[in-house]
Amino acid sequence: MRGRTDVDVAVVGGGLAGLAAAGRLLEGGRSPVLFEATDRVGGRQRTTRLGGHVLEEGAVFFGSNYPTLSAKLRETGLDAHLKVYDSRSIVNFPVGRQTGSDPAALLRTPNLPVAEKLALVPFAVTALPLAAEIRASLGTRVKSPGARRLDRIAASDWLTARVGPRFVDEVASPFMEALGFAPARDWSALGAMQILAFGGMAQLFGIREGNATFATRLADPLDVRLGTRVVRIAPDPAGIEIEVDAGGSTESVRARHLVLAVPAPVAAELVSGALRQTLRRFHFSSSIVAAVAIESLDIGMPAVSVFGGEGHGRIRGIVAEQAGPGEPVVSYAALAHPWQYEYFEAADSEVVRVLTDYLEIVNDKPVDVIESRVIRWEHSIPIPGPGSIPLREEAFRLATRVPHLDIAGDWTISPSQEGALVSGIEAADRVVGI
Ligand SMILES: Cc1cc2nc3c(=O)[nH]c(=O)nc-3n(C[C@H](O)[C@H](O)[C@H](O)COP(=O)(O)OP(=O)(O)OC[C@H]3O[C@@H](n4cnc5c(N)ncnc54)[C@H](O)[C@@H]3O)c2cc1C
Repeated sequence: MRGRTDVDVAVVGGGLAGLAAAGRLLEGGRSPVLFEATDRVGGRQRTTRLGGHVLEEGAVFFGSNYPTLSAKLRETGLDAHLKVYDSRSIVNFPVGRQTGSDPAALLRTPNLPVAEKLALVPFAVTALPLAAEIRASLGTRVKSPGARRLDRIAASDWLTARVGPRFVDEVASPFMEALGFAPARDWSALGAMQILAFGGMAQLFGIREGNATFATRLADPLDVRLGTRVVRIAPDPAGIEIEVDAGGSTESVRARHLVLAVPAPVAAELVSGALRQTLRRFHFSSSIVAAVAIESLDIGMPAVSVFGGEGHGRIRGIVAEQAGPGEPVVSYAALAHPWQYEYFEAADSEVVRVLTDYLEIVNDKPVDVIESRVIRWEHSIPIPGPGSIPLREEAFRLATRVPHLDIAGDWTISPSQEGALVSGIEAADRVVGI
């Protein structure tokens, strides 16, 4: 063990939340030191190469109403490099029973009984104000109790009670599978509405060759210690005692304040007692995806999202992205339950095979696979189902009781780039305000 160093604010985790937290602390006149376990910043956002092509891992799309992300992209000079997707060309349902996202089509379709069509009207009247709020807060945290209550109800129960079971099977579930990787029963009503709002956006954006650059630029002004894994935190009379593993040697750091910007499971490991028990009950990570680089696939649109095809039971999504006209395609697939980590371990080759088979069927010609890869993120564990808001609130309440500690990270709010940035800034603001 080396000697002990003192720092003003220790930020643990160099993903978007930690970078945003440290940036905000610096702006607020504090002196943050950021500890990042790996040898790069960005966390679940990174850029790698696949078959000689750029592969943006982590977020592929974000919406026009992510204000914090938009501001950060401007600050870092990346707003000029955005790739714009027309969401109508991203969302595509090959599932025969689709009724589309056009409301009028819902009233015309023979797939819904008349009673359910009639029920859609009063449902729309009550749901539209909530939808507007959810859309405005997309990527961050909904505020009104009405909208928050939706997180305690399974989407399928909510929609069955208000519209009917056929609506759930024929419309809601395919739609959620298309955009959210899981059917209605696996989403809370709030999650379902968030997906709907996301899908309804006219334009979606991606940072072409940007995930790594974005993180690096956010890190530029900061004191970042790469390769430093925080392994223990404990209260200290003057702040918080942190044990850091820096590639074999252990260092002790005393911080006046600590911001944890790590995924919930890591926070649970680091924070003991009642808080740890609470944190363990809700974890989220949409983290396991297979990617395949394919030569000369004529998909005829900039991006296509394909879900739940017959015979591909365990695969729930494909996003095929063409970098430019005539350029090879990078294609992603996610499993029905992307959080089933062990299952995925055994299924790599199957996933890639099903993905390429599917694209061959869609294009009616053989595809030439250049390279394939399965991307895993470290923190992928079960979601217990709907009902997470009270637990989140409880954990947050407990976290604020621990002196000198604030928690960022995307587990407190919607798991998105915007959510990560906002939660980091909010955690930092509490420290700046002290
Ligand atoms: C496959 C996938 C697709 C996604 N798609 C989208 C999308 O289309 N749109 C969108 O907006 N969002 C998307 N997201 C979500 C978005 O990428 C995340 O919400 C966001 O990047 C999370 O940032 P974070 O800082 O909270 O966590 P992370 O990125 O997980 O960062 C945590 C950091 O903490 C570090 N760390 C962990 N433990 C320790 C320790 N003990 N000591 C020190 N450091 C530690 C980790 O190495 C990591 O760098 C996607 C995510 C994934 C995985």
